[in-house]
Amino acid sequence: MGKYSGKNAVVTGGGSGIGLATAQLLVDEGARVMITGRSQATLDAALERLGAHAVAVRGDVAALPDLDALADRVRDEFGTLDALFVNAGIATLTPFATTTEEAYDELFAINVKGAYFTVQKLAPHLSTGAGVVLTTSVANVMGVPETSVYAAGKAALRSMARSLTRELLPRGIRVNAVSPGPVDTGVLEAAMPAEAAEQFKAQQVAGNPMRRFGTPEEIAGAAAFLAFDATYTAGAELVVDGGATQL
Ligand code: NAD
Repeated sequence: MGKYSGKNAVVTGGGSGIGLATAQLLVDEGARVMITGRSQATLDAALERLGAHAVAVRGDVAALPDLDALADRVRDEFGTLDALFVNAGIATLTPFATTTEEAYDELFAINVKGAYFTVQKLAPHLSTGAGVVLTTSVANVMGVPETSVYAAGKAALRSMARSLTRELLPRGIRVNAVSPGPVDTGVLEAAMPAEAAEQFKAQQVAGNPMRRFGTPEEIAGAAAFLAFDATYTAGAELVVDGGATQL
C-alpha cells in the first residue's frame, strides 16, 4: 500500500520533465495517474516507464474540445479525481522589442488559457478534499530579460490560485501553486540556442544559494505535498528554488 493508494490524479504535460517525475512519484505511491500531452510518442515512452497504473490522453491544453475529451476520459476511467497537477506549459523567450503577436498569443493560449480551462473542465469531477496545483515559476516575481510574456503568464496563474480557491472551497477543493526555480528538464534548450542555454544555466547555478539546479523529483515532491497532504493550505504558492528568490 502506497501513500496515495486509491487516489486518482491527472498530470497535464505528464510525458516529460517535472510532469513525468510527478506522475512517477504518484504511481510509486499507489495512485492511478492520467497524463496528457501533445506528442503521442512522448506519451508512449512515458507510459512504458510508468507502467499499468498510468494512462495517457493525447491533447492540446489550448484546445477546449481536447479538454472536454479529457474530462470525459476522467469520468469514464476514474469516476472522480483527487488531484489535478496543471503542469503543461512552454517557456518561449522573446525580447520585449521583438515579441510577435503570434508568440504572445501562443504562450498565453497554452500557459494561461490552457491552465484556466483545464481546471474549469475537470472541476466537476474533483472529489471533496481534492487538491489542484498550478505550476507557476520564480519568473513571476523576477525581472528577467526576455521573459516578459512568460513571467506575466505565470503571474496570472499565481493570481488564479487565489481566486479559483475561493470559488472551489465551498466544495472542499484547495487550489495552490508550485513555483519552481531552474530545473534542468531541457526546457531551456527548447527555448534558446544551445550555447545561450549553457551560458544561462551557468549563471543560474552561480547565482543560486544552493549552487545547483533543482531536480524534477524535488518539484514533484512539492506538487504531491500540495495536492494531497497540505490539507490546511489554500491559495498559497510553494517556492522550490534553492532559496534564489527568498535569500
Ligand atoms: P517540459 O517541456 O519537459 O514539460 C512541459 C510539458 O508540457 C511537456 O510534456 C509538453 O509536451 C507539455 N505541453 C506543452 N504544451 C502543451 C500543450 N499545448 N498541450 C498539452 N501539453 C503541452 O518542461 P518542464 O520544465 O518539465 O516544465 C513543466 C512546467 O514547469 C511548465 O509549466 C514550466 O513553465 C514550469 N517551470 C519549469 C521550470 C524549469 O526550469 N524547468 C521553471 C519554472 C517553471
